[in-house]
Amino acid sequence: MATILQPTDENLLQMSKFLLSGGLVGIPTETVYGLAANALDPEASKKIFEVKNRPSNDPLICHVASQEEVDQICFPTDLARKLCDAFWPGPLTVILRKKSVVPEIVTAGLDSVAIRCSSHPVMRSLTRLCEFPIAAPSANPFAYISPTRAEHVETSLGNKIEYIIDGGPCEFGLESTIIDAREESSPRILRYGALSPEEIEDELGMEAQRPAKTASDNIPQIAPGILPKHYSPNSKLEVVSKILDLEKIATEDEDTAYLLLQKPRFETERNVFWLSESGRLQDIAANLFDVLRKMDTIGFSRIVAEEAKELGLGVAINDRLRRAAQD
Ligand code: AMP
Ligand code: MG
Repeated sequence: MATILQPTDENLLQMSKFLLSGGLVGIPTETVYGLAANALDPEASKKIFEVKNRPSNDPLICHVASQEEVDQICFPTDLARKLCDAFWPGPLTVILRKKSVVPEIVTAGLDSVAIRCSSHPVMRSLTRLCEFPIAAPSANPFAYISPTRAEHVETSLGNKIEYIIDGGPCEFGLESTIIDAREESSPRILRYGALSPEEIEDELGMEAQRPAKTASDNIPQIAPGILPKHYSPNSKLEVVSKILDLEKIATEDEDTAYLLLQKPRFETERNVFWLSESGRLQDIAANLFDVLRKMDTIGFSRIVAEEAKELGLGVAINDRLRRAAQD
């Protein structure tokens, strides 16, 4: 079992020293919980891959305290500065050409690095205390559902790490949006996430290239490490545009669970779940991974999930659902 720490000044100082000494710590961010290591320490970063069982060709995101720290590890473009001015601290990751100080293992041998400045107050304090960037992918076993609460990290990785800092439930509940900002005139979204494409495009006053679709399965691809199958429960998941006749079908087959976007108006069976009371996309996103984990813990043979409207945050919600549904 890991020790779950409250984010007091004293504990954060202790964790910054633990990270400096090569340790791994579960940390809260506004998107999902991360598994943190000193990004400039190749041995510490290597442990992230071991603990997550993550393939070494899947690069890590580096967390910094401010835009100023960015210069230490990469070559920012004007495009990146503009994006970071607008959206940092927040759920935006930029890809930029890396400096040699970043170990190869962190970037999976690429000459670029992914960088983010989190808005979570605990992560902000921790990145300020650490005089090095923090490498932190999501704190889940590779390809499983991402964690949005300290207890999710404890359940999945508690036997492999010593400390988890509890910063409460994550505000967004979806990973950061990743944008390749190396080419001044052609921003490229590599992964949909908590910041919608529309918000990015409004800010830039130009269109951003969207993730390519694969011919075979219509799933957005392909930045390094972005796989069709991800965020997956153990139960088999199916995504449908609308669940019809729920009241009837839910009673007929109790081994199938149904995941709705909004709470239904009728009394439900134990195999019916929902992601929000309101139908608001923010609430749906914030609850998605938590509810999927709860359903997975009960262990249905099949989960049928309703998809969101393909607009704003709905794009990222559907992206996660479709990847969770991949075989
Ligand atoms: P995670 O932190 O687990 O949500 O995953 C981080 C993701 O960021 C990886 O899976 C990659 O898809 C992406 N990423 C990290 N570094 C790079 C990079 N240098 N170029 C492109 N994508 C990257
Ligand atoms: Mg992840």
